[in-house]
Amino acid sequence: MPADDLILANARMLDGNGFAGASESWLRIADGVIAEISEKPISSEVARTIDLKGRTLMPGLIDCHVHVTAITVDPGRTAMLPDVTVAFGAARIMKQMLMRGFTTVRDVGGATRPLAQAEEAGQIEGPRLVFCGKALSQTGGHSDYRGFVDNRSAESQTYRLGAMGRVCDGVDAVRHAARDEIRQGAQFIKAMANGGVSSPTDPINFQQFSIPELEAIVEEAANAQTYVSAHLYTDEAISRAVRCGVRSVEHANLIEPATARLMKVRGAIACPTLVAYEALHKDAKALGLPDVSLAKNDDVRLRSRGSLEILQRAGVTMAFGTDLLGELHKYQSDEFTIRAEVLPPIEVIRSTTCYAAELLRMTGEVGSLQVGVFADLIAVDGDPLENMSLLGGQGDHLSLIVTAGRVVKNTIDDNGFPSRTGWPLTTFQAQIQATIVAMMCYVC
Ligand SMILES: [Zn+2]
Repeated sequence: MPADDLILANARMLDGNGFAGASESWLRIADGVIAEISEKPISSEVARTIDLKGRTLMPGLIDCHVHVTAITVDPGRTAMLPDVTVAFGAARIMKQMLMRGFTTVRDVGGATRPLAQAEEAGQIEGPRLVFCGKALSQTGGHSDYRGFVDNRSAESQTYRLGAMGRVCDGVDAVRHAARDEIRQGAQFIKAMANGGVSSPTDPINFQQFSIPELEAIVEEAANAQTYVSAHLYTDEAISRAVRCGVRSVEHANLIEPATARLMKVRGAIACPTLVAYEALHKDAKALGLPDVSLAKNDDVRLRSRGSLEILQRAGVTMAFGTDLLGELHKYQSDEFTIRAEVLPPIEVIRSTTCYAAELLRMTGEVGSLQVGVFADLIAVDGDPLENMSLLGGQGDHLSLIVTAGRVVKNTIDDNGFPSRTGWPLTTFQAQIQATIVAMMCYVC
């Protein structure tokens, strides 16, 4: 899709990296990337200028733990839905994420290469998608949704778009599964290495996969020049996985200080997902989630804020994650305010900018305001360091969203005031689209 040549004037820049919200600056976008940043006005004959009038300009937000194909709150049910149903649902979820300001997301179980390609090609509108294909799970593990009395073959879910994971047991089988995901384009490997909330037969404190299996998965990922992300709650499971070489520790709710220090020494990065438990707690009864999952949810929810303190004290890098399913996706941006109850605001900002880029191994491409990175940008009506809820809701306080130089939301007129129509570019784009459709009908 064509990018817009744009100048953003009078921006108060905040990326948690070099820019921590200081002085007003000018930023020029060309060919989808940031082409120039200056403290003096920039002018151009070809670029359009939008005056941000001191609004906060940030890199587009990055969420490192999502499941875009989780179109219902019940992963077992979603796994059985037709691929077409899941694809359309995923497209809607991705669009909503983009409108909350998330311009890059890492899918940690479910999304496949064709979805990422559809976004890249402009067939669907959503965040840039980093994906691992299907998460690897042992029989009875966190992505085996068959329950106690369902004896269908586990393979029935392996190639379904709605399935978050695939089942594999034994060193040879996990190697095959990891290689098969990499063959299909996986950019990293996800392993379910601990019991989970939404799966029916595995209490939270179950260890999943043997040490040789985990080591084999890590080796296969390393052979493909990538890393392993693992679903982990308990202290023992985290310690075991990090010793096996897991780099991205998802959730980490029940971590203890010694294991946090081990993570720091090994260079592992944490991806907590606190809003997932709060959202489930809030809405699960209404959504009909079984009592067993609700009880498991409280086991991890009540320790989640403490885990942030432990990780912070050990100096572990924490990236932003949410892990919401189905109808609960609307709470995605609540993660900012929940974290801000425990962490300094600048650390919360970094979790969704530079730390997230580091976890995705995309430093220099996303998550910062510097020349050469993708022009993924949001303008916030106010200062998130003072009021983190400005990043919340459904993007209500974001007056500009740009992805790879393309404006997808703009409620500011060129002079910096809230636009009277509210959506000037969208309306303009709609007119162009209508004209093209009319021309195509004429040609046909
Ligand atoms: Zn997850």
